[in-house]
Amino acid sequence: MSLGTETKPAEAAAKEPVGNAGRVLAVLREFGRPISAYDLLDRLRPDGVSAPTTVYRALKALIDMRLVHRLEALNAYVVCPHPRHVEDVCFAICEACGRVDEVDDQRLRRFVDDWCEAEGFLLSRSAVELIGTCAPCRRTVARDEAR
Ligand SMILES: [Zn+2]
Ligand SMILES: [Zn+2]
Repeated sequence: MSLGTETKPAEAAAKEPVGNAGRVLAVLREFGRPISAYDLLDRLRPDGVSAPTTVYRALKALIDMRLVHRLEALNAYVVCPHPRHVEDVCFAICEACGRVDEVDDQRLRRFVDDWCEAEGFLLSRSAVELIGTCAPCRRTVARDEAR
């Protein structure tokens, strides 16, 4: 755990990726929603990126930097809205609008750690994804149904 190591904003800026990773991150930020590697590749072709491996390598670097997350359920990638978080997070994905909320709650992590410890399960990675309808979309549906 490295929660005590506060990084100064200047250091954070220095971590901004360059090259292909920087280009991929720019597309992800501009898109603003989960996007598949192939759709990413299509958007990068004008920049001269034509190999899927280039995109995957850039994505891996961005995921390792925790700037991007992979959503297993959608087989897609999304920009992390937080400047940094050290723990894995849980995602709530809206099927109606594609919005992704990160649930950054230590209780989830603690529960997983405790369970693994009790069961002797060696965790290599975890992906908790809640698929459903977000609050704004639910309100829209409720309004439409009231008509
Ligand atoms: Zn995140
Ligand atoms: Zn929604």
